[in-house]
Amino acid sequence: MGGFFGVAAKEDCIQDLFFGTDYQSHLGTQRGGMAVLNRDGFTRHIHDITNTQFRSKFDGNIRDMHGATGIGVISDFEDQPILISSHLGRYAIVTVGVIQNAEELAAKAYLRKNTHFSEIAANYVNPTELVATLINEEDSFAAGIERAQAAIEGSCSILLLTDDGIYAARDRVGRTPIAIGEKDGARAATFETCAFPNLDYEIERYLGPGEIVRLTADSVEQLKAPGEEMQICSFLWVYYGYPSSAYEGINVEDSRNRCGAALARNDSHEVDVVAGIPDSGTAHAIGYAIEAGVPYRRPFVKYTPTWPRSFMPQVQTVRDMVARMKLIPIPELIKGQRLLFCEDSIVRGTQLQDIVQRIFDYGAKEVHMRPACPPLVYGCKYLNFSRSRSILDLATRKAIRAIEGDENTATPEVYADCTTPEYAEMIERIRDRLHLTSLQFQKLDDLVEAIGLPKNKLCTYCWDGCEGCGK
Ligand code: SF4
Repeated sequence: MGGFFGVAAKEDCIQDLFFGTDYQSHLGTQRGGMAVLNRDGFTRHIHDITNTQFRSKFDGNIRDMHGATGIGVISDFEDQPILISSHLGRYAIVTVGVIQNAEELAAKAYLRKNTHFSEIAANYVNPTELVATLINEEDSFAAGIERAQAAIEGSCSILLLTDDGIYAARDRVGRTPIAIGEKDGARAATFETCAFPNLDYEIERYLGPGEIVRLTADSVEQLKAPGEEMQICSFLWVYYGYPSSAYEGINVEDSRNRCGAALARNDSHEVDVVAGIPDSGTAHAIGYAIEAGVPYRRPFVKYTPTWPRSFMPQVQTVRDMVARMKLIPIPELIKGQRLLFCEDSIVRGTQLQDIVQRIFDYGAKEVHMRPACPPLVYGCKYLNFSRSRSILDLATRKAIRAIEGDENTATPEVYADCTTPEYAEMIERIRDRLHLTSLQFQKLDDLVEAIGLPKNKLCTYCWDGCEGCGK
């Protein structure tokens, strides 16, 4: 998916930019980039961060980066920021999201015959360069961004670094968030608000869907008002988001606690201990334990010093191995216990199968699993959540294949509806495959309530196939 951070200050902004971008590191896996602008022009650095932390790659660069305005990005695939010289002036651009119709937009651009793309990788046009091409077709940055927002199917939030400040534009239906922060002598725009407190920024406001603003050190100018329609990704609260961040004013940790509490209210199993699959299941488990009045303990702890990044590497078998390396059991807390685990979600279930087996091997009496969101029946087409995973790999689709003989069921909606017998059978197949004592997923209504926004403002596509108001 990726995350970004931009800052406009009266003094040199590089320290804020460096740490602010670093705080987006959990959102992307492959590329980190920063650009600053000063009187002499841009200084930009991009590094491969697949196997290294952002901060160790950029530590040396920040000594030669100086400027009062800058943007930084953690990116899943493409090299960013891109530097552009156009009739609108020079600028640097970063984007977050997925452009589903990128090929079509690129083909249309070629038809105009005066367009070319220079940032080709593996035969794909760099999506950020494609957005820049769309912006360049208009007579102002704001009009160009609006053009891009209207043309793009999928999602795209944008930061532009220009001579006149930083343009921040949220995705047309707000699939991803942008918050504006303020401190004396500086304004910043960020995906993750966890970047703000330790850099002394206070949240000034959250941009609405499709809203465009221009930031300078002491002002935020609205260039396009927000739209009515919103489809912010619910998964931010379930899994992606950092616990100390907030979107639409709703803190992630807090909503995960509410998710866990809802799971507990729907549960009738007696257990000895509640635990989270660390780290993303932890807050859900704390909420469950408090609501159920059952002790919260940590039968697994995470080993992070040498494996700090959550998604690397891209090859699944190696990723599984790394996931195992990171999770260390504490046998003394497992033996003879009836354990209930909260997990953010079950995607493929492969790693979970291994974890459950290990828990039983250490002498657990029972292992119950409570995913904090409903079963993932559909693949995400708006962000990169399932880009590297085929929908057919989803645990639900494997269960459906076992039931119907084909994972491409004609009626996925009956499996997404927790009141149907098909849903019950699918869950039973997943439970059986994972060798769990019991498996109970979050209900969608409870998840929506735990987040605290109206259902029609949230994207819930990966659970119920609802396309909402988005393209
Ligand atoms: S489909 Fe799921 S992961 Fe994708 S944007 Fe919607 S809620 Fe988020």
